[in-house]
Amino acid sequence: MKCPRCSSDDDRVVDSRTSADGVVIRRRRECLECFMRFTTYERIEESPLRVIKKNGERVRFDRDRILHGMLRACEKLPVSMADIEEAVMRVEGRCQGEYDREVPSSVIGSLVMDELRQLDQVAYVRFASVYREFKDVGQFMSELEIILDEDVEGLDVPGPGVSSGDAAGGLPPANPHDPGQQAEARDGS
Ligand SMILES: [Zn+2]
Repeated sequence: MKCPRCSSDDDRVVDSRTSADGVVIRRRRECLECFMRFTTYERIEESPLRVIKKNGERVRFDRDRILHGMLRACEKLPVSMADIEEAVMRVEGRCQGEYDREVPSSVIGSLVMDELRQLDQVAYVRFASVYREFKDVGQFMSELEIILDEDVEGLDVPGPGVSSGDAAGGLPPANPHDPGQQAEARDGS
């Protein structure tokens, strides 16, 4: 450790203690040149997994983004929060297990699609339609046919614009026929 006063590399550890949770080790050091005392903290390196975007840019791996993407795809579908969170953890685990430092965003996209496919077919199509940026309806339909070939019952084809990442934040339009809506305002909720 370089002394903050004289920049010497020679020091000795005077005192060493571990935090209550065992996560951090605090070391009191003394410079052997100028005898200045200073403190260092040692902690386990958090795996700084990074994502390689399509344009080559590197960004920090963000599990919240994956969670939000999946929540959005599963909006108004019978998929539990616990199932979604578990799916996100599996995606994160596989990224860390199979990729050391950097994982292409396309890999994450595929992993998320695999998970959504297991959770809910509609969520899968929603996500795929946005993620794969289908160029035309034909391409979208062929993707849909693959799913329909699997003979899924009650598949509700999402309309255009579903979770398309618009500025409205994907909020469903207010239902003018909802009788509870006026009462809601009085509740002050
Ligand atoms: Zn010093």
